[in-house]
Amino acid sequence: MTFIPKAFSVALMRPRSRAAESINEPSSREASGEQSRSWKDEGYILADSHCHLHMLDLNLFDGSIEKVLENARANQVGHFLCVSVNVKELPQVLAIANRFEAVKASVGVHPNEQDDDHEVSVSELVKLSHHPKVVAIGETGLDYYRSEGDLSWQRDRFRCHIRAAIEVNKPVIIHTRDAREDTLKIMQEENIDKVGGVMHCFTEDKATAEKAMAMGFYISFSGIVTFKNATALQELAKVIPLERMLIETDSPYLAPMPHRGEPNQPAYVYHVAEYLAHLKGVSLDTLAQHTTHNYLSLFKIT
Ligand SMILES: [Zn+2]
Ligand SMILES: [Zn+2]
Repeated sequence: MTFIPKAFSVALMRPRSRAAESINEPSSREASGEQSRSWKDEGYILADSHCHLHMLDLNLFDGSIEKVLENARANQVGHFLCVSVNVKELPQVLAIANRFEAVKASVGVHPNEQDDDHEVSVSELVKLSHHPKVVAIGETGLDYYRSEGDLSWQRDRFRCHIRAAIEVNKPVIIHTRDAREDTLKIMQEENIDKVGGVMHCFTEDKATAEKAMAMGFYISFSGIVTFKNATALQELAKVIPLERMLIETDSPYLAPMPHRGEPNQPAYVYHVAEYLAHLKGVSLDTLAQHTTHNYLSLFKIT
């Protein structure tokens, strides 16, 4: 189920008549003194803090990335962080980021990526992260769910990313699954609080969220929070302060309700935002303002 009232979802299909450039942009209705404004008229922009634009199947978008971003903008999504999962595809990530002001990039190797010929080093990450569009290091972290055996290589790789992040003073995008204790331990040992970052696609418990927040981290919610069976995560979202919250799609994966099971896209971060606003009992304006402000400040985007 979804919380979009019918009239509102129809309105959503209409592209906006003017580009919304700033989260503080006054609306034309406001200027003309009209009543009955909706949050969309306010010009607030949502930020998809974690998407893999280079992995989307562009056949679903008339073959063009412009169409992906157009869809997003029609749903009030105006900021995109295109997250790397390996070094090999970094040129594709940067090519997209270079074309669009609103698209930023990260550099990192996902904990489940395996390239037997090459393991990324601190110096390589440092060098790659000097690109002007790169605002973060990651995604990195630990995933004991999808990898088996002796996973010390994952932990070494994670430490490597944190050291590079501290060297270049950029925040870390952390992926953690079935590995919360080791993740927190390494974060602490490597003094990750010097740079902070985001626990992306968060599905862990409250204690983990609190420890991460104490190290300067934001908690990012994906479409998972909209799933019917995600009751524990929904309870957690209620108590995470807006000041510490980010939203994401992780597209092309994890489409939120009502698109669960379909390929995901940045436009759908709208559904995550709306669901969270409802859960927390705040307006979409408020949710959008906070999460976008958090996005811009964490990734130092001016
Ligand atoms: Zn991830
Ligand atoms: Zn991801």
